[in-house]
Amino acid sequence: MAASYDLLILGGGPAGLAAGIYGARAKLKTAIIEKGRPGGQAATTEELENYPGFGPGTTGPGLSQSMAEHAEAFGVEFIKDTIIGMDLPDKKISGKKGDYYGKAIIFALGAEPRLLSVAGEGKLRGKGVSYCATCDADLFEELDVAVVGSGDAAIEEAEYLTRFAESVTMVVIHEEGHVDANPVSAERAFKSPKIEWIWNSTVQKINGDEIVESITLKNIKTGEESDLPVNGVFIYIGTVPKTDLVKDVLELNPQGYIITDEKMATNIEGVFAAGDVRDKYLRQVVTAVADGSIAAVAAQRYIQDRELWEKEVMNSTKPVVVVYYDPTDMKGTEEAGLVDQFLNENPGKFNLVKVDATRNELVKNRYQIKEEDLPLVQLFVDGKVDTTLNTISKTSLRGLLK
Ligand SMILES: Cc1cc2nc3c(=O)[nH]c(=O)nc-3n(C[C@H](O)[C@H](O)[C@H](O)COP(=O)(O)OP(=O)(O)OC[C@H]3O[C@@H](n4cnc5c(N)ncnc54)[C@H](O)[C@@H]3O)c2cc1C
Repeated sequence: MAASYDLLILGGGPAGLAAGIYGARAKLKTAIIEKGRPGGQAATTEELENYPGFGPGTTGPGLSQSMAEHAEAFGVEFIKDTIIGMDLPDKKISGKKGDYYGKAIIFALGAEPRLLSVAGEGKLRGKGVSYCATCDADLFEELDVAVVGSGDAAIEEAEYLTRFAESVTMVVIHEEGHVDANPVSAERAFKSPKIEWIWNSTVQKINGDEIVESITLKNIKTGEESDLPVNGVFIYIGTVPKTDLVKDVLELNPQGYIITDEKMATNIEGVFAAGDVRDKYLRQVVTAVADGSIAAVAAQRYIQDRELWEKEVMNSTKPVVVVYYDPTDMKGTEEAGLVDQFLNENPGKFNLVKVDATRNELVKNRYQIKEEDLPLVQLFVDGKVDTTLNTISKTSLRGLLK
């Protein structure tokens, strides 16, 4: 039988772990499905020094482990499985080992390295071609390696590689002196005696039969090609979101990142997205954990609102008068109070449910309630909208009773 949870989190990177901490602490039955070890990309970097409160000396694996232990301490269940399919409207997730259900889902599958897509890359992956210095740097003790890219990840990982490799050559597409990394890391790398720089260049192919022997570079200014003998090549040219499984279901931006609102809600009710997989400005640990926390709080609210709505409106045996109101609007609240009085004078026939429509996202989205239309009354019969009253008065309410 498929396992069921209140909150099912897909991916155990920083976003998923933070969501787990918030979900489990709110007493939701929470599980994280993760195919590898917790920590995601953050666990693949040896130097992670910009997470507030965790300064120099902090490592990605160390910080990830603390987050995972924190989540576990609050009661998060870790499920080691690879997600291979999902039916998001039904909140059903399929893994290699089984199926899982959640009342709410947080999609936090993160991103994976962008490939160079040149000859030799696929064939020599794991044989000198790598996307993770933390995982593989020690294999290159006293050897020569190249790092492709100039962003934060490329520069930080190049510095880490200098602890092992004999030489590290940065292959950068930009003009001399221009990198995409933050100036502090860049300055440090420029000063490193072990790091050399090749500017205005791209990798054309990776050469070698069994293992990497060299890379062919092209100077984009002169068109000149040359071979650089190396034993390894580390590729850091960005990441692509892991959204293949949902590309026809969730709304994505042109680059394939999931579009959410500020509460991390996607276009499917009860499905939230957090972390690097989301369309956003800054992809870092600190923003991933912020997303995860927001998503978990929004998911908890969604579950609560939905359960109440199901019980009081959808499954009511009597017709239900629902009053949507804005508690900060005094005049509207008074008008909404008219419904109370009216139903008290006409007891027995209807149930009354009042909804703060400024906070209840579920109802607001499901029934397209706009704040400018509040207060608003809807009569539900057998779980379906029967009548909508845009103005609340004794006359309109009398009409409703009929
Ligand atoms: C080399 C490197 C260095 C970095 N340095 C820093 C830094 O110094 N500071 C900083 O703040 N940020 C840094 N970052 C960025 C940071 O790591 C990410 O922003 C952060 O990890 C994003 O977290 P996430 O949870 O959204 O996604 P991810 O970390 O990508 O986690 C997603 C998780 O989902 C799992 N998953 C994916 N698909 C499946 C599936 N089908 N089934 C089950 N599980 C699945 C993955 O295994 C992974 O654990 C670095 C990234 C890299 C690659």
